[in-house]
Amino acid sequence: MAWRCTGATNAELIANMAKADIIHSDRVTAAMTKVDRANYVRYANDAYEDSPQTIGYGATISAPHMHAHAVEYLLPFLKPGSRVLDVGSGSGYLSAVLYQLLEDPSDPRNKDSKVVGIEHVSELVEWSVGNLRKDGLGSALDKGQIKMIAGDGRKGLPEDGPYDAIHVGAAAPTLPKGLVEQLARPGRMFIPVGTRTQQVLQIDKDADGNVTEKPLFDVL
Ligand code: SAH
Repeated sequence: MAWRCTGATNAELIANMAKADIIHSDRVTAAMTKVDRANYVRYANDAYEDSPQTIGYGATISAPHMHAHAVEYLLPFLKPGSRVLDVGSGSGYLSAVLYQLLEDPSDPRNKDSKVVGIEHVSELVEWSVGNLRKDGLGSALDKGQIKMIAGDGRKGLPEDGPYDAIHVGAAAPTLPKGLVEQLARPGRMFIPVGTRTQQVLQIDKDADGNVTEKPLFDVL
């Protein structure tokens, strides 16, 4: 059900997703509560609606329940010190949530945490940086712990890898090899694959480099 979690405030939207068992983990609730979706949409009135919304350039900010699913699946790989790639970073919303999931100022590995957002519409990259700053993440950007760049996300960004977790928001017709190569050992990727309809796949790479593929659910 796409719309049932809509709230009057950001905190209510996230609490509704926890009640509906879309969010299972307290860590995800805490991280998503810290990121105010109003900072990442074009029309603030729709910010707390559990639906995708247009952000221009033919792109949308995904529905909150879709973002929640993605981070729940990636959660075991999101820790202080992790490196994360967000492909098709659009509004920057999910990059912010991923960053909040790595944040633990009391953990010495915290300083090595890094989220890289890659988006092929350069205007959206610029807008997403402004959104992240509005949301209080200016210092993470200044320190390079969040990096938003323009480019073809299917090629990834090998120089900042390997990545403990890769989220792909832009569906690919087939699984991009380069992204699989950039997964750490161990590492996990969440990716919609297909053309007319898509299947979301979880790609796991184990400590020995063996790669397995598990279909999670279908999306339109
Ligand atoms: N997760 C983001 C955006 C999801 S929409 C959010 O919720 O805001 C998917 C995004 O992927 C769009 O912004 C689109 O411009 C971008 N995109 C599509 N193909 C891409 C590619 N090959 N490389 C980088 N970005 C791409």
